[in-house]
Amino acid sequence: MSGIYRYRLIQRLLTKSIIEYRMKKGYSVLLIGVSVIKNLIDTHIHTKFSFDGKAKMEEMCQCAITKGLTEICFTEHFSVNNYDPSYEVLDYQKYAEEIERCIGLFGERITIRKGLEIGETHIKNDVIKSFLMRKDLDYIIGSVHNIGIKKLRKHIRGKQKNESYEDYFEELYKSVKFGDMDALGHFDLMKRYAFDVFGNYDMEVYYDLISSIFDVMINRNIALEINTSGLISSAKEIFPSIDVLKLYRSKGGEMITVGSDAHRPDMLGNGIEDIFKLLKNMGYTSILSYRKRIPLLKSI
Ligand SMILES: [Zn+2]
Ligand SMILES: [Zn+2]
Repeated sequence: MSGIYRYRLIQRLLTKSIIEYRMKKGYSVLLIGVSVIKNLIDTHIHTKFSFDGKAKMEEMCQCAITKGLTEICFTEHFSVNNYDPSYEVLDYQKYAEEIERCIGLFGERITIRKGLEIGETHIKNDVIKSFLMRKDLDYIIGSVHNIGIKKLRKHIRGKQKNESYEDYFEELYKSVKFGDMDALGHFDLMKRYAFDVFGNYDMEVYYDLISSIFDVMINRNIALEINTSGLISSAKEIFPSIDVLKLYRSKGGEMITVGSDAHRPDMLGNGIEDIFKLLKNMGYTSILSYRKRIPLLKSI
């Protein structure tokens, strides 16, 4: 067994043992010592290293500190598909160096993590795997931004509502089934584009498909990201919607991450405190952040 596979196996076993431990003992034992600390964590942030980022990393760090965030994870876009606007945009070496420079500048005031948001992790995943083998990332979000060679916005042109949403959820299923990721990003992103054309979707229509996605995620220890950028979309609700989040909870889903998907400083941490309140009302007492791709429980 090569080093990387052994590492991933240990990582998965650790995740499993954390969850089993939580189930046996409850959260109280595991969270002794951190329960008094208010964690305000944003695990989905872009800078100018992404094709659509608007601010420098240093600026984002300064703003995060001003807003009282305790931990941030940069997750620049990365894609190995040449039809995606992220293709060959990220200069990983410079990105890694800038993270280190910012840790040097701000590391005593805020925890800074290095992640990636990888598009369509199930396609060309052998290429992604070889890229990841040479990196020491803290966290990977797997996202679906395209179906086939088309962006979601273009994919729905000429299609009916059901087909549009179903195609997207089917792509999500393939992504969590075959891709390498720590969390699935912005679960029902399709509504950002389809809402204006068809309106919102009814979860009941896609119940079996969404259930199957969660079954795979829970089985593979892939966390569900709550992405607050949906609040500023036409649908004006988080990704995923609260109904879908409740379904995840009812299926025993325990692994939650929270991110703003900020592409500029004013969006950093947007809505995250409200999400923590929502999660608490649902019975959650912690979320996850990742270090070297190992999940860490953070009380909320
Ligand atoms: Zn995305
Ligand atoms: Zn993003």
